[in-house]
Amino acid sequence: MALGAAHQALESHPSRDVSLGGLPVTRLLPIRDRRMVGPWCFLDRFGPLSFSAERPMDVAPHPHIGLQTVTWLLDGEVRHEDSLGSEAIGRPGGVNVMTAGRGIAHAEETPAANSGKLNGAQLWVALPEASRAMAPAFEAVARVPRVEVPGAVIQVFAGGLAGGTAPARFPTPLVGADVEVHRGEAVTLPLDPAYEHAVLVLSGDCAAEGEGLEARRLYYLGTRRSALGLRSAGGGRLLLIGGPPFPEPILMWWNFVARTPEEIAAARADWEARRRFGEVSAYRGARLEAPALARFARANPVS
Ligand code: MN
Repeated sequence: MALGAAHQALESHPSRDVSLGGLPVTRLLPIRDRRMVGPWCFLDRFGPLSFSAERPMDVAPHPHIGLQTVTWLLDGEVRHEDSLGSEAIGRPGGVNVMTAGRGIAHAEETPAANSGKLNGAQLWVALPEASRAMAPAFEAVARVPRVEVPGAVIQVFAGGLAGGTAPARFPTPLVGADVEVHRGEAVTLPLDPAYEHAVLVLSGDCAAEGEGLEARRLYYLGTRRSALGLRSAGGGRLLLIGGPPFPEPILMWWNFVARTPEEIAAARADWEARRRFGEVSAYRGARLEAPALARFARANPVS
């Protein structure tokens, strides 16, 4: 059924723990040996956590170039403010997509009025050469398509899957979805065999192609799979990302996705000199300073 790929073992990658302005997050992309999955070049998982007086997320204004940010929440709220003047509160079931293009600045914080919960993921999509100098944009989608199939509910926040098509605009072909497999049930997801895919357990338990998936690990599925069989004993949620192998080498440094060290140095200099990115006027407090320009991550291997 899966074009000769149904029985290939899943490639499992450990995550690493990092801190985002004091908030502990689990980084699943980029990691050693796996820099991208399709155009997806960054995946941070935060929560689940409960809080009372404090506001656990407070990421001061910082710049981006050459990418789109995608914020997907399972619980709680994140307030987004950017240098275009956009202000939006992201909630479960919806998605915020910010297109940096040639340059944007934004801040993300737990709003003063909140549920006391935070649980979600932030991902970045690398923009291809033809689009990476585009004008910045912000899009808030209140409710993404929700597809009910036997055994599961699929929420499609990027691209298309199982008959659902996400409304947010991406210049690259891709898929991003949250798949909730019901307790004691199974589902077979149709996949585009031209895409490479990866999955991450978000909650509960889940097995893929008969293999039990561990929490906090990214499972890379490769290309040439036209279906993915999932099963859950007690009920489980899974993040699925994918896209055609990205055809260009990218260079990532701090919050920038570029092609050359010179571009990154120029973006850093523009942020420090308060050029290009604009001000996040809705945020109260100091902005983030760029780190010293010490060393670049190596470019991703071109597939
Ligand atoms: Mn950001």
